[in-house]
Amino acid sequence: MHYDMLFIHPSAHPDSPQFIVMPMGVVSLMNELEGYDVEAINVGLELCLDRNFDIEEALTQCEYDCVGIDLHWHEHSFTALQVAEICKKVHPGCKVILGGLTASYFAQEIMHSFEHVDYVVRGEGEQALPLLLRGDEAELIPNLVYRDNGTVKETPVSPVECLDSLDFSTISGIRHWEDYLKSSIHGHMRRRFWYDFWLCTGRGCSYDCSYCGGAHHSQNRLCARHGMTFRSVDAVMKDLVHLQDLGVHVVCPSHDISLAGPQYWGDLFRCMKEAGISMGMYLEVWQLPDTAFLEALADICNPRFTTIVMTPLSGNESIRELNGKHFANEDFYDRVKYTEDVGMNHAPYFATGLPFETRKTFKETLTMTEVLITDFNPSAIFCTPLRLDPGSPMFENPDHYKIVKHFHTFRDYYERCMKRAQNLPHDFIGYHTENLDGRTIMEMQNEWEALLRENPVMAGTSMDTLHFV
Ligand code: SF4
Repeated sequence: MHYDMLFIHPSAHPDSPQFIVMPMGVVSLMNELEGYDVEAINVGLELCLDRNFDIEEALTQCEYDCVGIDLHWHEHSFTALQVAEICKKVHPGCKVILGGLTASYFAQEIMHSFEHVDYVVRGEGEQALPLLLRGDEAELIPNLVYRDNGTVKETPVSPVECLDSLDFSTISGIRHWEDYLKSSIHGHMRRRFWYDFWLCTGRGCSYDCSYCGGAHHSQNRLCARHGMTFRSVDAVMKDLVHLQDLGVHVVCPSHDISLAGPQYWGDLFRCMKEAGISMGMYLEVWQLPDTAFLEALADICNPRFTTIVMTPLSGNESIRELNGKHFANEDFYDRVKYTEDVGMNHAPYFATGLPFETRKTFKETLTMTEVLITDFNPSAIFCTPLRLDPGSPMFENPDHYKIVKHFHTFRDYYERCMKRAQNLPHDFIGYHTENLDGRTIMEMQNEWEALLRENPVMAGTSMDTLHFV
């Protein structure tokens, strides 16, 4: 088989499936290459389906002119470059293209340090990729980092002007796409009876949560995108109809649609009703939704398959505020109760290692967790240590957030992931704070997990029963 372009989503670990959910932009990029022979291989998914899957062997069984490797989340820093090297080894004449937020942030360093990468597409790639495949001159292609006689050059970055013409739901080009619909970030679940799918409903963000590499200022710098843009109701509806036809039970919007305003979500829900869309939704809300939105969502979506993820981050209101989530405890509990009253599932999310957090403020997170699991009925409850995202506010302004970064360059991320791949001790979070060293952060995480283990309600909750990010 010959491919004009082969997309490869690397597993974060070379020999086992890790983080197999693909960036949503891979789908739109594939669909922008109409008329070309294109396929996407998800290495983690292939490893789930066949423990002996070997990407090098798979590549020897086909021809390809170009390879697009996503390096969006820094967790893939080592394997994305490893796959790039293998692609060149198998077919030395191919062009290797990297994209995604991490690749965009470190584009210069990657191009200087890894000769088997030919191009990095910075920011949003839907304009650049078709031009690159068409053979246009590099200097005329937007968002491109390339070499010219050994010098690394870059063209100006611009965002996609209108997201409505992009197709985020045609996934037949993903190898084993039906199995992909039965996958979560942790892996493929053969016995899972429902399909879910992450759908791009917008791009950009207006907030600057301390830990987020996709925050407002980061997207501004990397993608030239200012604020949040939602796709039109018509464009989202087209995808929803297609996904329902594919048999998807749960759609996971990329963006918190409550933030698009009542006119938008009112129109969307009305159109969904008219079109007979009855899928559930896994919706991560970015602040606190109002009760009118929750009521309307419960009315339109299958409640059995619908989960709202709210993110208090901390039980302490001022720690929450300082890290980007702007709501009070009283309002949070009120909204949790309302969500239960209208019959929807909910899952609160906390974090350990937040800037400004102390042992004392973390006690309030433990208290809030206890209240939630005794007085309420969450379907699941999360708490994870933060990891240092390149481009996040705390990465860019460590002094302001009173943190000490352990990672500064792409090489730091690459080596951290390489150590993990070699089963060597590695720095899990990549920073410490003025108040908390890495060991203390992990101790707090263990404390939180012990609290859950002691609770019979949550101990009975299977991690497989919900979609996890
Ligand atoms: S975590 Fe915060 S900054 Fe990042 S996308 Fe969500 S709301 Fe925006």
